Amino acid sequence: MRDGETAVLLDPSGLDRLFAALTRRGYTVIGPTVRDGAITLAELGSAGQLPYGWDAGTEAGHYRLRRRDDDAVFAHSAGPQSLKQFLHPPRARLWAADRVSGVIGTDEPEPPTKRYAFVGVHPCDVAAMAVLDQVLAAGRYPDPAYTARRDGTFVAVAECVAPSATCFCTSMGTGPGAGRGIDLVLTEILDGGHRLLVAARTPAGAEVLAELPTRPAGLDDVLAAGAAVDHAAASITRHLPEEPLPALIADTRGSAHWDDVASRCLTCGNCTMVCPTCFCTTTEDVTDLTGEHAERWRLWDSCFSLDFSYLHGGPVRASGRSRYRQWISHKLGTWHDQFGMSGCVGCGRCIAWCPAGIDITREAAALAATRPAKDRS
Ligand code: SF4
Ligand code: SF4
Repeated sequence: MRDGETAVLLDPSGLDRLFAALTRRGYTVIGPTVRDGAITLAELGSAGQLPYGWDAGTEAGHYRLRRRDDDAVFAHSAGPQSLKQFLHPPRARLWAADRVSGVIGTDEPEPPTKRYAFVGVHPCDVAAMAVLDQVLAAGRYPDPAYTARRDGTFVAVAECVAPSATCFCTSMGTGPGAGRGIDLVLTEILDGGHRLLVAARTPAGAEVLAELPTRPAGLDDVLAAGAAVDHAAASITRHLPEEPLPALIADTRGSAHWDDVASRCLTCGNCTMVCPTCFCTTTEDVTDLTGEHAERWRLWDSCFSLDFSYLHGGPVRASGRSRYRQWISHKLGTWHDQFGMSGCVGCGRCIAWCPAGIDITREAAALAATRPAKDRS
């Protein structure tokens, strides 16, 4: 919550009314739920599908769902998915073509009809959506597939009160408190009682909030919510080096540490798939067996795949060393030159979901440690 923001209290039982208010306005509600051994984001029909009483323990190369000893709804860290799945989906058909009487005609897919309301997503994921906005919607050539999904979205963020061991949003300025681009801010208070402090930041948020069964919040509620977010920030133990990261990455281009990472990295691309800001794609053309019907699809791709940088004669980045260096250099370094911001929001997904337990914060720290030696040479 921001200083001076007017907030009210909502009991967890009132979340059903939030879902109803959003559904009535035509939104498809996306929120966290327990599925397939993880807290995933999915289309939800009711608040009863939220992950009451669950969180997850994470470490490098480790993610395990855990039962909490309370009924917290949003006290969990980022799961394997992010808003990217919905706004920039893994597979999207760009066009189809049919040959009729020797003439080829094309048709473009219908624009998506769903308008998303993201409920209970955390500030780091809203920050990641702002990164995708900058990459895919700003500039001279906005991506129509992205903007069609992004336009008109509603965001009810849940401030993060229970970061996990892999989170480092405080290094990136993206959490655990709510930032910008939000309609409703929810802060879950678990101090023996269980309630949500809620504030609206847009007219759309105020309109929805007016329909919820709220009651006035007291100063003690506001202080308890602030303390929960402060405690979350203080409990974050992972950090990136406190120095300009673009310069760090540029200055360590020749570091022997890239070979060390390459000796562990499987070049599987998991880190890019789970990353909420990685946006690279490839295209694939398919035809049916008659050759009368063809389609072009856009699919997520990864800078860890050899084909991704294939030019005539071979891949530009043939080694694991060069592919990991490309990934982290773009995230922490050249993204600033290209888009005026960091490509990393500190969600920690790439750490938890790396099968080799490779940790962007530790690799950056190792690079920082090699720099004085390089500077002396
Ligand atoms: S860093 Fe980890 S997740 Fe990423 S490509 Fe290497 S092994 Fe896979
Ligand atoms: S690089 Fe890793 S920590 Fe940063 S936004 Fe991507 S997945 Fe999250």
